[in-house]
Amino acid sequence: MNSAESAALELVLRGRGWEKSLHGEGAELILLNTCSVRETAETRLKGRLAQYAALKQKRPALTLVVAGCMASRLGERLKTEYPAIDYVMDTASRSIFPAILEAAESGHKSAREIASLREKAVFSFSSSHLEEGAFRSFVPIMHGCNNFCSYCIVPYVRGREICRSPRSIAEEIALLAEGGVREITLLGQNVNSYQHGDLDFPGLLRMIAGWVRGGPIEWVRFLSANPKDFSLETIAVMAENPCYCRHLHLPAQHGSNGILKTMNRRYTREDFLLLVKELRKAMPSISLSTDILVGFPGETDKDLEAVLDMMEQVRFHYSYMYHFNPREGTAAYTLPGRIQEKTKRERLSRVIALQKKHTSETLRNRLGSKERILIEGISRKNADEVIGRTERDEMVVLPGTSALIGSFMNIELYSLRGHTFRINKELEVLCPGVL
Ligand code: SF4
Repeated sequence: MNSAESAALELVLRGRGWEKSLHGEGAELILLNTCSVRETAETRLKGRLAQYAALKQKRPALTLVVAGCMASRLGERLKTEYPAIDYVMDTASRSIFPAILEAAESGHKSAREIASLREKAVFSFSSSHLEEGAFRSFVPIMHGCNNFCSYCIVPYVRGREICRSPRSIAEEIALLAEGGVREITLLGQNVNSYQHGDLDFPGLLRMIAGWVRGGPIEWVRFLSANPKDFSLETIAVMAENPCYCRHLHLPAQHGSNGILKTMNRRYTREDFLLLVKELRKAMPSISLSTDILVGFPGETDKDLEAVLDMMEQVRFHYSYMYHFNPREGTAAYTLPGRIQEKTKRERLSRVIALQKKHTSETLRNRLGSKERILIEGISRKNADEVIGRTERDEMVVLPGTSALIGSFMNIELYSLRGHTFRINKELEVLCPGVL
């Protein structure tokens, strides 16, 4: 979500003639788009702020803007703590950004005027989120969250769900298609609870499949889907429309019903396992990834066994795994039964070890498969190689140049190095690169 929002802010800057500075030290304006999900992200940001405050002492004309979730959470308090900050712009008041830029350009508009604009601002979706030269793009379709999972700060900093109109989504998709984009990811904190008037998420997916059919956008993904809102109709629309990639990130968070309840996830492990079964029945080739959070207050050894058992039953392609860290301002912050750090680390390492095993076995079983990949960039390790990705979200490295970026290719998954596939020869370039 933050990447998409950063891209939208960058578009506003470029539209007014601003250019990206290669070195922050020489910039006339520094924009920090922040995240509040983890405390570590905020701690890192505070370090950066101290650094820029020192820079501002040398160059008082520098404009320092803090945007995003941390700006929503702490608001003007941030300015009291770091007087070097000129403007704080929360996620609901991005519409004041042009006024901030105008002030930075002319030095005329006062902070008080901007503050009054901010008070009147209401959340609106940006018209485009396309990064320069990109052939993949995020398309936010909703913002905020109504769920209040007990460990999560998002509903407090992003507010309640707001859904984008289908017309605005269609306009952005048309713009992206015109720019030669090949893959889009529909984005929202709880993407599949989308509801705009009578239009629900599967209805929107059906419309989008029609809009992209026959055009340059061939792959569509969505993120993050909440298991509790995943309907059978959504599965049917995905299965019917090959534009929907056969990969789904489905955050399970835990495998024990007691912990899922305390987390306020509003589904059971049985619901989750049934959903996986339905997805695989409709799309046998689909790959699944997940988020797993262990060490939640009150978690017992038996609860951890339930997580490992669920992983064993599903065999996720990959997982984002972490242990609980109390986040001030959330319901879980005051829950009794906190788990010792050492125990949390031990439990997490068991989960990581099992996932590593599943990932290795799953990827090894894929060797020999004929796949279509989208080339997304030059390999960081070897300038004569490019990186591609299958629709199942598997990484492939092959010889090639930047001319291939943005092309689809048919390849065979020939060998594995770590979790990255290699090919023995390229089979067919399906369309010319866009760079
Ligand atoms: S669904 Fe839960 S975890 Fe996801 S953003 Fe909403 S509250 Fe946070």
